[in-house]
Amino acid sequence: MTTSMTINKTSIELVQGDITQEETDAIVNAANAALAGGGGVDGAIHRAAGAAELQAACRKLGGCATGDAKITPGFKLKARFIIHAVGPVYQPGSEESPRLLASAYRRSLEVAVENGVKTIAFPAISTGVYGYPMDKAAQVSLTAVADFVRQNDRLEKVRFVLFGSEAFETFKAALRTLS
Ligand code: ADP
Repeated sequence: MTTSMTINKTSIELVQGDITQEETDAIVNAANAALAGGGGVDGAIHRAAGAAELQAACRKLGGCATGDAKITPGFKLKARFIIHAVGPVYQPGSEESPRLLASAYRRSLEVAVENGVKTIAFPAISTGVYGYPMDKAAQVSLTAVADFVRQNDRLEKVRFVLFGSEAFETFKAALRTLS
């Protein structure tokens, strides 16, 4: 299952699947501020990349602020790079949550471009343990990516790899509302 939309020079694709298997130049990790590894997609990426090597690389980065992103090699992954992005813990009604979530996507894309990445895959940052409602996250995340690629020609493909059919369908509905 795939659905896509081209904005400016970039194809934005939605797929249902496991991000650790992606063959894009970079995959994005929904990391925590300590870059210490954890559960969810973070744990899956650490296991697939090789936990010891990836943890050693992360330790050298000295953490990452919420809304920011940092890069490491992909080690055993097919992807050359892992971009560790820190999304917010969802606070209902707060304007900080969408601002920080959009920032995590934008910073990931900036770091990607700085490193020559042409194709990149994202999970639905903050929608697991961090509690961001999937429909709200889909809207903010897709809008942040669309805004970036309208201003920047250097990315060929941005994929959202959604874990499960509910996440996939929710992102698909949100993509239709982007113009
Ligand atoms: P956060 O702490 O940012 O909320 P989580 O890892 O708890 O991060 O969840 C983020 C999203 O990643 C959730 O929607 C979760 O279902 C999804 N997810 C978990 N494992 C994978 C995977 N292997 N590939 C893609 N997405 C995944």
